[in-house]
Amino acid sequence: MQVHALAAPTPGASLEPFGYDTEVAPGEVLIRVEHCGICHSDVHLVDGDWGEHGFPLVPGHEVVGTVEQLGAGVTGPEVGDRVGLGWQCGACHRCRYCVRGEQNLCRQNRATARSRGGFADRVKAQAPLVFPVPDALDSARAAPLLCGGVTTYAPIRRLARPGDRVGIVGLGGLGHLGVQWAAAMGCGVTVFSGSPDKEDDARRLGADAFVDSGDPGAVAAARCDLVVSTVYADLDWNAYLRALRPNGTLCFVGVPPSPLSLHAGQLLGGQKSVTASAIGGAAAIREMLRFAALHDVGAVVETRPLAEADAALDRTRRGQARYRMVLEA
Ligand code: NAP
Ligand code: ZN
Repeated sequence: MQVHALAAPTPGASLEPFGYDTEVAPGEVLIRVEHCGICHSDVHLVDGDWGEHGFPLVPGHEVVGTVEQLGAGVTGPEVGDRVGLGWQCGACHRCRYCVRGEQNLCRQNRATARSRGGFADRVKAQAPLVFPVPDALDSARAAPLLCGGVTTYAPIRRLARPGDRVGIVGLGGLGHLGVQWAAAMGCGVTVFSGSPDKEDDARRLGADAFVDSGDPGAVAAARCDLVVSTVYADLDWNAYLRALRPNGTLCFVGVPPSPLSLHAGQLLGGQKSVTASAIGGAAAIREMLRFAALHDVGAVVETRPLAEADAALDRTRRGQARYRMVLEA
């Protein structure tokens, strides 16, 4: 079968029409793509920030579409179902992490957008990594949940308790979903942002405090139990440690370019932790989709036709998306 896609032929190049042949192997699901969100990770991949392999590279890993074909042995989902696919399209399905639903920790974790992603009419993945989308969710608003959504849902769910104050650094694709999750889980929410014009949006999404992310004094004065950073920039992380209450955690989901320079004394007083979180496994994705349907959580999207993917990707690259670009078939 021929897949019609858009690919960057080399790192940093514009997207071009690209066709490739594929077969649906045992255990796989072929999805007809209807919506595909644009994550900043797609920008990093296309721009070669994470290496030069996988080119020509078809980005896209926030897919909602319809199951078109099943490989041998697949017992669910069924042809015609509306499903989602995120960052991960493959795993071993046998290791201790896979059996717990933590496929994101599997050593054989394969990424959808490393080569043949969702900027295409079709995309395929292993069946356990393809998720039914609840009827209550709109496809365009749900697509970004499959990566940006679970990447913020999983650490907040794991590390925050109702009544805690959660800080979200960066109000972008991930951040604007993080605010909604934390508010819906019964947490106070502080947004740390470098864009003062986003304050009204932050409050509409559920935040009750808004702090300049680049002002170390203002950051350190915030009082959070958990801070989730979605930015890919260097900030004064010691100020963010000072912002934590005792037992608080600073969790990176965006990766700053420079190594961290943290004083252990900042951790010791108040027993604070620094950690990171990678997407989420199948258990987290299934739970998140149910939670989103119950609490009406969804991305704020700007939709564009697939043919305009290059311009849409550039809006994400420049930080202009409010708050997630989503491509439509
Ligand atoms: P995005 O939509 O572009 O948003 C990033 C936000 O970071 C921006 O909206 C901006 O927020 C802030 N920012 C940008 N440049 C900044 C700078 N120079 N200084 C301070 N803040 C800055 O990106 P995204 O899709 O949310 O992705 C964010 C990062 O998470 C990317 O690096 C992506 O690769 C990574 N990611 C990680 C995982 C994972 O599994 N851990 C999964 C998906 C994505 P303000 O305007 O509010 O300051
Ligand atoms: Zn992503």
